[in-house]
Amino acid sequence: MSVLSKYFEQAMIDVGCQEILHPGRSCLSFNGTNFLGSIRSNATFFLPIALLRLLMLAYHRKTLSWVILRQAIGEFGAMMVNALLVANCWTGTFCLATRMTGRIYDNYSVSLAPLLGTFAMLLMPTYVKTTHAKAIFVANLECWIKSRPSRLLATMRKSRTVGTFCFMLVSAGITQLVSNMNRQAEFWFITPLKPLARQDRETCCLHTVQDSCTRYILKGLQTYLTFSTTLELARRIIVTFSQLRLSRTEQLKSLLRLRYRLILFLTLYNSTYRMVTCLLARARRKAANEDNIAAAFACGIWYALYPNYNIFNLAVSTFCQVAWSSTMERYTNHPVAQMLDKLPCAPFVWSVSMCYVIYSRAYYPWAMSRFAHKFIDLCSNYASRTASENFARRFLVEC
Ligand SMILES: [Zn+2]
Ligand SMILES: [Zn+2]
Repeated sequence: MSVLSKYFEQAMIDVGCQEILHPGRSCLSFNGTNFLGSIRSNATFFLPIALLRLLMLAYHRKTLSWVILRQAIGEFGAMMVNALLVANCWTGTFCLATRMTGRIYDNYSVSLAPLLGTFAMLLMPTYVKTTHAKAIFVANLECWIKSRPSRLLATMRKSRTVGTFCFMLVSAGITQLVSNMNRQAEFWFITPLKPLARQDRETCCLHTVQDSCTRYILKGLQTYLTFSTTLELARRIIVTFSQLRLSRTEQLKSLLRLRYRLILFLTLYNSTYRMVTCLLARARRKAANEDNIAAAFACGIWYALYPNYNIFNLAVSTFCQVAWSSTMERYTNHPVAQMLDKLPCAPFVWSVSMCYVIYSRAYYPWAMSRFAHKFIDLCSNYASRTASENFARRFLVEC
């Protein structure tokens, strides 16, 4: 619990939902207008995401058909419904609980109010389930890391060397787990090749004999250069053309404001991984599973080029996902594993994460990631900002 929450009881004496959530308006009028407002604000948040998804679908399937368009529209609708339910359940429950009991509760009103709405995730399409759970988990991890008061963690947070070394370890960990799994691995920027039972005698590397080592490495370089540049360009196109007032020169400048170091990191991370696996296999004249792990550790060094909470936490969340899948696979016949495998993990992560976002918006707004901040403010039609500011004002008076 944060230091601020110690003063919660004192700060909230004689305070109702009106003072915190909707100054100058009744519960009914606020919830009505906020519902309509949240439709508009959610659309502005999810439309660029849906457009990016449409582009990715077309890029992967190499066509732009009605089927793809319908899928993208369906997922956009699902994202909207899901977010609207969470946002309006939060504001509605906050008012309802306060009016029924006559006071604001630290945990229930602040953290647990959106819980009921988060259960809608159980009905969402797989794409929405996995992306939403992962995105919000990654964003929350940033807030959690930044808000820890420990001095050791503070030093680690600031050090590029420590961050890079930890990233190298996580990168090796993901590869180690994936190398030992039979199932298709979760998506990550490198895909370890496994030794086949009938390994081609002519080559010591694991890639196909048709590809020379140089071609294999260059292919990786080209794939990730194209992938990351396309993704960055699509992002800039959406950002640029949503700002209508820009002049031609400003538009061009805005379009070119790509995250070049991110592109470089992704390209070098993948191609260095390929290069190290080839070098190790050729030096020994035989490929081994350990080469994958050593290569994944080595290529993690490029993280120093673009140290970033999103990349780091994405690696941590991928590691957790892979660790979970690998444990399920290892104990596949165990009844406990079979039971756990049937549980809806992504909706569970989403529900807990949404409660944590609301909690951190009230107590740790300074530690939240830009994405989480924007997400919660826009999706709730800025109701979370009003509540957070009014909470802070009360705490300032009390502390
Ligand atoms: Zn109210
Ligand atoms: Zn090779």
